[in-house]
Amino acid sequence: MAKIQLMPDHLSNKIAAGEVVERPASVVKELVENSVDAGSTWITIELKEAGLESIQITDNGAGMEEEDCERAFYRHATSKITNEHDLFHVRTLGFRGEALASIAAVSRLKLQSSTGDHAGTCLELEGGRLLSKTKSDARQGTEISVNELFFNTPARLKYMKTIHTELGHITDVLNRMALSHPDIRFTCTHNDKQLFQTNGRGDLLQVIAKIYGVNVARKMVPIETETLDFKVKGYIAKPEITRASRSYMSTMVNGRYIRSIALNKAILQGYHTLLPIGKSPISVLNIEMDPILVDVNVHPAKLEVRFSKEKELFHAIEEAIRQAFRKQTLIPHVEDTK
Ligand code: ADP
Ligand code: MG
Repeated sequence: MAKIQLMPDHLSNKIAAGEVVERPASVVKELVENSVDAGSTWITIELKEAGLESIQITDNGAGMEEEDCERAFYRHATSKITNEHDLFHVRTLGFRGEALASIAAVSRLKLQSSTGDHAGTCLELEGGRLLSKTKSDARQGTEISVNELFFNTPARLKYMKTIHTELGHITDVLNRMALSHPDIRFTCTHNDKQLFQTNGRGDLLQVIAKIYGVNVARKMVPIETETLDFKVKGYIAKPEITRASRSYMSTMVNGRYIRSIALNKAILQGYHTLLPIGKSPISVLNIEMDPILVDVNVHPAKLEVRFSKEKELFHAIEEAIRQAFRKQTLIPHVEDTK
């Protein structure tokens, strides 16, 4: 008799969850990304005990029909790509179809969703297994509550850090989301106290002021450039404001926050000799490009990407920053120095 068996779904999902769901902040990231992909104009995040007790995300996005509510929890189930061609033209934040299956596998989860046309659907799951399905109200949008995260993976639960640390990771995720989407109103509460709110009016500088303070926002210089392949838009801090870590450099590609050592280097080179050695600037850059030029399928959390025209992008960014500072007359023109 064969010894090799196919794992039941709830077991393989629990294993996959180890990769996708590292901590409460990963749940917040995945759920907020789904709300963004659903076209929401407001997203509310309510946390209890830094998400370890509960994480509730409510949005006014497209919502789901009854059948899709159940399908959303299957592994590799997605409405975002249908074929290989789509994989290289991803415009959405999600496309792997893994988040909901993974999150549900390690929590007690409740989903309510409606497309707004008729009564919505309410599902309750525990450790990935469906407990109940009922009707819910018809308000368009989706609400997902994730309770008792890691209740069935005690080893992972033990690994969780203090409330303070976990909340810090969540704040990082939400800051990046707000900086990438100034046109979405984000509201976040922790233990019923407001933690964070943006107004969704589309003004990036206002979001920067919310996150880094008004004094920093006042010292930001706008940057904008367009080449054949890339559009770069955002703000960079004047060199008089610096930070000790690179974590204040935020780069978004097609609305997705990414980590790129190469692009950080391009930004630093743009500052040239203006920055003190060992210091990092504050920057928020939104880069738009044809999705064919960026491979987002490199990293499970999709934080790292690969560019097919990295050198060109590098130069575009470096040059845009120099130009912005030239306009501010921080870098003298060659003629001026004669
Ligand atoms: P992915 O985002 O990679 O497609 P997920 O597991 O995160 O995979 O979600 C599965 C599917 O569930 C999505 O493709 C989408 O169709 C649906 N979905 C999830 N969250 C929402 C939401 N907040 N609003 C509308 N649809 C959603
Ligand atoms: Mg998703």
